[in-house]
Amino acid sequence: MSAKGALSIVPAGVLSGDDTRKLFTYARDNKNVTSSSTVNAVLEAAKAINSPIIIQLSQGGAAFFAGKGLPNGNQEASIAGAVAAAHFVRSIAPAYGIPVVLHTDHCAKKLLPWMDGMLDADEAYFKEHGVPLYSSHMLDLSEESKEDNIKDCVHYFKRMAKMNQWLEMEIGITGGEEDGVDNTSVDNNSLYTQPEDIWDVYSALAAISPNFSIAAGFGNVHGVYKPGNVVLRPELLGKHQAYAAEQLKGEKGDKPLYLVFHGGSGSTKEEIKTAVVNGVVKMNVDTDIQFAYLSGVRDFVLKKADYLKTQVGNPEGADKPNKKQYDPRVWVREGEKTMVDRVKEACADLGNDNRA
Ligand SMILES: [Zn+2]
Repeated sequence: MSAKGALSIVPAGVLSGDDTRKLFTYARDNKNVTSSSTVNAVLEAAKAINSPIIIQLSQGGAAFFAGKGLPNGNQEASIAGAVAAAHFVRSIAPAYGIPVVLHTDHCAKKLLPWMDGMLDADEAYFKEHGVPLYSSHMLDLSEESKEDNIKDCVHYFKRMAKMNQWLEMEIGITGGEEDGVDNTSVDNNSLYTQPEDIWDVYSALAAISPNFSIAAGFGNVHGVYKPGNVVLRPELLGKHQAYAAEQLKGEKGDKPLYLVFHGGSGSTKEEIKTAVVNGVVKMNVDTDIQFAYLSGVRDFVLKKADYLKTQVGNPEGADKPNKKQYDPRVWVREGEKTMVDRVKEACADLGNDNRA
């Protein structure tokens, strides 16, 4: 790990593609958000540990940001929510004084209208400000054939590269279930990406821009489950790096790939360390963070149950008001606090602390 602070190489606030690449030379981690409350909790944690952070929204998270009451048949709520979240993060991130990579996650083929809508917004923002609204987007066409996956990624990446935007793509499949995509019954072999496939992706995308990362399957699974027969093998990522370095004849060093670790929740600290050593620049920790957010709210509600049943009247007296307990700023804040702690822990696991 470099001792040089991230703020000496990139600015505070939301980053563009080249700055994102500079930042990704360090190991970074990544938090899914769904609301201004969870955005603030992530930023609060990053500020407390004086380190850069990746904030991302899934298609479902973006729709939630816009409001579950809106129709989303054509991805209109997911587009509006993603745009609103980006403006919100752009507005407040500088106040926290840390660099932020703003990202959207897992856009599968059926969700491409979401991607199209976001890119329209990115281009409009770029026209006015010279940077895209988002630092980065992920295309997840891992369910398609390798040829189709690469072809569609190339198509979108050409459009994104004009705005100096980062692309994350996935090849091989992350097991488990996330955001309505169920991969719990996928054949185990496709959960481990082959080095030749990663090289094919690398050579197609590197011809367009250096600003991309690859989410490879190495037995990683979305969500937290009891140990099953899929074994997490982060050491395989080292083999992918070695294979790519050999194809490049060492021109890009011994770790030419920016790799992404999906399904980081529930991993051991040793597994995370191995992944980072092998060039993982982003790890998704959603499930554990969701649980952490609930924990604070749950504990508060259970502890204060007798203060939350009526607006007036509690164990201290029949005429005592309960407003200070049921005010959302009180109990939502308890969830934020436990989320902040869990984000800090994830950052420490990745070696991402005191680096701004
Ligand atoms: Zn994922």
